[in-house]
Amino acid sequence: SGRWARAMAILKEFEDKCGTPIGKLRQVADAMTVEMHAGLASEGGSKLKMLISYVDNLPTGDEKGLFYALDLGGTNFRVLRVQLGGKDKHVVKQESEEVSIPPHLMTGTSEGLFDFIAETLAKFVATEGEGLHPAPGRQRELGFTFSFPVRQTSIASGTLIKWTKGFSIEDAVEQDVVGELTKSVEKIGLDLRVTALVNDTIGTLAGGRYHNQDVIAAVILGTGTNAAYVERAHAIPKWHGLLPKSGEMVINMEWGNFCSSHLPLTEYDQALDVESLNPGEQIFEKIISGMYLGDIVRRVLLKMAEEADFFGDVVPPKLKIPFVLRTPVMSAMHHDSSPDLKVVGNKLKDILEISNTSLKMRKVVMALCDIVATRGARLSAAGILGVLKKLGRDTVKNGEKQKSVVALDGGLYEHYTEFRTSMESTLKELLGDEVAERISIELSSDGSGIGAALLAASHSQYL
Ligand code: ADP
Ligand code: MG
Repeated sequence: SGRWARAMAILKEFEDKCGTPIGKLRQVADAMTVEMHAGLASEGGSKLKMLISYVDNLPTGDEKGLFYALDLGGTNFRVLRVQLGGKDKHVVKQESEEVSIPPHLMTGTSEGLFDFIAETLAKFVATEGEGLHPAPGRQRELGFTFSFPVRQTSIASGTLIKWTKGFSIEDAVEQDVVGELTKSVEKIGLDLRVTALVNDTIGTLAGGRYHNQDVIAAVILGTGTNAAYVERAHAIPKWHGLLPKSGEMVINMEWGNFCSSHLPLTEYDQALDVESLNPGEQIFEKIISGMYLGDIVRRVLLKMAEEADFFGDVVPPKLKIPFVLRTPVMSAMHHDSSPDLKVVGNKLKDILEISNTSLKMRKVVMALCDIVATRGARLSAAGILGVLKKLGRDTVKNGEKQKSVVALDGGLYEHYTEFRTSMESTLKELLGDEVAERISIELSSDGSGIGAALLAASHSQYL
């Protein structure tokens, strides 16, 4: 019928606009490399901030002793303690506790929030068991994962640029978050010092490197997306400080803000961006990360409902609600392997209140999920290729056997199998067999926790 043909035309046009042929991915990777150079050359030189993290030493595996970590970046925060045993022994013991932040503290005062955190820390420190104390005469040391935008001023200090994710504590903005935490810690006489301030991407890089010395970069694919990697310090023109002894510096790319005319953007992406909390920002993130993929699918379905009566004469009202279709639901539909696509049918009914869908319609919904996930996955692979290119690791140099590992973390990568396999096969395709043999991707869970403790160790005041 005419309706079906109109719906198929919308689908087909969307599919064409989302196309990521290998040549286009190479252009995206090249653009990423170019922007990386620009961001490293000068402050504000690119949409890629390429933030200097002050992490110039990654864990080697030799770290020894008791270290703490604090992970703050959502409604829950975690405190963590690890006993590191040095070479071969690695993590001897690990204990952690998750605490939810009382909502009134998320919008109160800086002192209120950090007093609460310090008190929670003190309670946790009080549970140190036998043989789990800092060496005599030594202060406890802590790595602080603070996953909000921070202008870092040293490895253990940085000012908060702005809050996100439901936090809004006006008097903390432009303050040194480590200074604020330290004030609260000292107030209650807790003997503890913050020796590293990082974000989840850098924690993942550190956690990955601890287990595998070939790890050179980390990528987060979760609610949002970001990447960090190890740069040669002399290749950072905007760095005017002393060159670190290691000769290296970890760069927090903030790659979610990457943008390029080569990105395959559609009218649906433009509308999503315009209606978002941060229009014009985080364009790469808005086409590849977990917060947005489901909503892109919803927007195309809505258009098919409005302009081709895809779901009948009435446009399903639920379909008009932003973010009603979450990425985990999209992924469940995409992975439906039942012959009659029962999962797709049930999700459409339960989430969108659309019942009596035909198999033909369910197949279209699944095809849509595939188009959106595939575009995101392939562009993520192109981003990784861009980083490898910047490091000169996208080719094999005169028979060199050097290995490169990229540590990955985040719920999207971990749970969305179709996304993950598409990303990994695309990276192989981009690299070619010979180079692909030297490059691998490894899941590195919980970097934001243990990674911070490891960075506290590798930046200890006692080294
Ligand atoms: P965060 O990025 O907020 O720190 P996670 O790394 O746990 O947290 O990622 C959570 C995100 O991962 C969710 O917002 C969601 O988009 C995505 N996600 C979680 N589970 C799935 C799933 N089963 N399929 C697809 N995406 C998922
Ligand atoms: Mg996370």
